[in-house]
Amino acid sequence: MVDARRVKTVALRLQQWSTGLAQPLRRHPRRAAAAVGGVLLLSSAAAFALSEVQPPLPPRVMVAAAFDAGVQAQSAALADADMHYVQTTAVRRQDTVQQLLRRLGVTDPAAVRQLVQDPHLRALVAVGAQAEPVRAVVNTQGELLQLDAVLPLPADTDPDAVAVWRTLQVRAAADGTLQSAISERPLQPRTRLANVPVRGALLTALSQSGVPAAVGQQLVKAFAPQMDLRRSLRKGDQIALVYAMHTLDGRDVRPGRLLAAEVQTRGTLRQAVWFAGADGKGAYYTPAGQGLEKAWANSPIPGAKVTSPFGMRLHPVSGRREMHEGVDFAAHIGTPVASVAEGRVKFAGVQSGYGNVVKIVHPGGFETVYAHLSRIAVRPGQTVSEGQLVGHSGNTGTSTGPHLHFEFHVAGRLADPLRMASYVPQGKPLPPGEKAAFFAATAVLRNQLAQAAGRDEPTRLARVD
Ligand SMILES: [Zn+2]
Repeated sequence: MVDARRVKTVALRLQQWSTGLAQPLRRHPRRAAAAVGGVLLLSSAAAFALSEVQPPLPPRVMVAAAFDAGVQAQSAALADADMHYVQTTAVRRQDTVQQLLRRLGVTDPAAVRQLVQDPHLRALVAVGAQAEPVRAVVNTQGELLQLDAVLPLPADTDPDAVAVWRTLQVRAAADGTLQSAISERPLQPRTRLANVPVRGALLTALSQSGVPAAVGQQLVKAFAPQMDLRRSLRKGDQIALVYAMHTLDGRDVRPGRLLAAEVQTRGTLRQAVWFAGADGKGAYYTPAGQGLEKAWANSPIPGAKVTSPFGMRLHPVSGRREMHEGVDFAAHIGTPVASVAEGRVKFAGVQSGYGNVVKIVHPGGFETVYAHLSRIAVRPGQTVSEGQLVGHSGNTGTSTGPHLHFEFHVAGRLADPLRMASYVPQGKPLPPGEKAAFFAATAVLRNQLAQAAGRDEPTRLARVD
């Protein structure tokens, strides 16, 4: 009996490396199934001519030889010939170069010794489990003749930075030494539309509609400031998507940026379009140009408990009834304190009862104050972003114990910090002076979104709140 795997591979000649088996299998599932059937037949009765049993495979792999009947004669003939095997595997979790080579049938000690040192192969396994196949051509002595692999992207690669297809090629030179090289090809970006009816879990609905997982993750993230899509969708809701797909020789090989999306849930329509400003930084906005990302955090210490609210109270130090001008948050000394929004540091230093204090002015006439700090992390005049560390909480100034005193001023007047959200803009505004560019850039996306959603009329402007 001839080993089935060998029969399968023995007569195959690698003609041209492209992207491996996954794509041809997806595109020709019936052929692939028939091919597997053919191989099974062969393994039980090797008297078939391979070229007759096996239907034509995709052009990348060609059937190059046929067998005669008689396993014995055949084996003897094979042993004499200069036989090459094509082996395909994929990088697994916690794989090593050695394990990968073993699965590919590379046993030649010299090759293994050289390749375990190869930085490209080491980088290939370092990324972890991958879908893209690694393919090797190996001879009967376990010597590697050639190896081809797609180099994966690091997990956190920006969706706009995925447009280069990098492949690793290892080739045996005439003297038997192995040479490895990287080649790069630019991918062609295309736009894909998807309409996703929600029947059950979000991720299932997306994958059933052929939306790549990486695009689904971007969708969840884009709407995260408004809603948790994984929990809040119901049967009957609708999602429409516009996203970039990078192609190689006309084949979809790598999903890119989610460009526009809408979620229709129980009568409420939420829409998002991607827009990158002149500074190259992009974000999702409503079609009306309001950022989906929250511009203001709820608290300078997320999750901290309020120990004293805003308003009239008996002062804990003086004992007199007076105005508490902010709120106090319980915080151990050294707890990081973050600016609740982007702004400019107006004051950073010691000021009477406040102790170490940071005051920040924000666009729109707002000001915030962070007092009793143990340490200050910013300088006057410095610009800060939302969530940026301004200092650490402490017990300096007039304070009865470690806490953060936090104030919120609107147009020069004190306001309740716990009602901050009712004063401040909901989403990050468009970069200054980019309104016209935004509407021009997103007009196409809005039309594509309408098309994806199956609407003919122009997309109406939707409120996201
Ligand atoms: Zn206070």
